[in-house]
Amino acid sequence: MTPIRARWFNGQSSRAQDVRVALQPGPKGPSLHLLALDGGSVPTRSFSHAEVEWPPVWSRNRAPAVITVALTDAGTLEIDHPKEWQEALLEAGARPSLAQRMQTHWPVFLGVLLVAVIGLAAFYRYGTPWAAAQITRQVPLSWELSLTERALAQLDQGYLKPSHLPPERQAELRRQFDALLGRMSPELKRYPSYAPRFSLAFRSGMGANAFALPGGTVVMTDALVEMASKNGLSDDALIGVLAHEIGHVVHRHTTRMVVEQGVLQVGLGLALGDVSSIVSFGSTLLTGLAYRRQHETEADCFAIALMGKAQLPTGPMADLLLGLVSAREGQHKDQPTTKAERGSFSEWLSSHPDTRQRAEQLKAGLAVGCPA
Ligand SMILES: [Zn+2]
Repeated sequence: MTPIRARWFNGQSSRAQDVRVALQPGPKGPSLHLLALDGGSVPTRSFSHAEVEWPPVWSRNRAPAVITVALTDAGTLEIDHPKEWQEALLEAGARPSLAQRMQTHWPVFLGVLLVAVIGLAAFYRYGTPWAAAQITRQVPLSWELSLTERALAQLDQGYLKPSHLPPERQAELRRQFDALLGRMSPELKRYPSYAPRFSLAFRSGMGANAFALPGGTVVMTDALVEMASKNGLSDDALIGVLAHEIGHVVHRHTTRMVVEQGVLQVGLGLALGDVSSIVSFGSTLLTGLAYRRQHETEADCFAIALMGKAQLPTGPMADLLLGLVSAREGQHKDQPTTKAERGSFSEWLSSHPDTRQRAEQLKAGLAVGCPA
């Protein structure tokens, strides 16, 4: 190849020295050699590929007038002929990096962007739940308990009010809740070493519902208890709801979703290179979580199995569910449900899809998709 004319500022003198530059192929990329202007082909100085700060490539139509090449400890070169420089580079076997090709070729950029988007989507769809399930195993119970404490305090300051149920009634339901827990056999446990601290809390201030918090707190509203007795249903209906909520706790559904949000944020932060988006998350996040369909099926399957162990019927809970749906449909025909009613957590009613179909399955004592 023909050497290219260049000016060399060697870093010791302010005056440029006219030289010729030759590029030669090498295993790690081209090496650079300075030749005297008049002399033959013996280089005065040679630089390996790593000793040269190779200038960024430019898109075809936007060549700079002068190219500056920095040489480690040996000043800089200025080259007035960008086109010749680029040809020499290619001839010496320089392969533009992916980043360089992205800068100069739109199709490459779009291709990389597409791959990145597909990768992120796949991570969100498959990677996140998988990672969350693994990480959840490591989440200590104490973390769940403190999260729940904060979340419940927040709810109590918000729309939840103390229960007006007579203490004897609360005690009676707690007794049945404890008896139900006593029937939980090891094979019903999703995480063998996980021992949540179960407790049943009563609140008013919210429609007929129940929800579970991580670590074992199950909240049931006065309205749900009242609805059951208004519909002439036995306590088995309420116990069935509690069994479903215990299922959410045992499967650690809320924790899994909180962890998933965290994994997703960290993953996105890493993928997009923005560390500031790796934000802390806590009890406020809980209120924004909607349960997944799969989690509901798991909780229903769990409820059916546990009620079976306790030799209690699942029909009453199905009737309660249907009663609730009818009452709500009549009540809210003209007005949209409020945020508080749409609510959060593993609310028993609102976030469950296909309620009628679900009630029929519960009534029959088998839910589709339950492990045999
Ligand atoms: Zn649920």
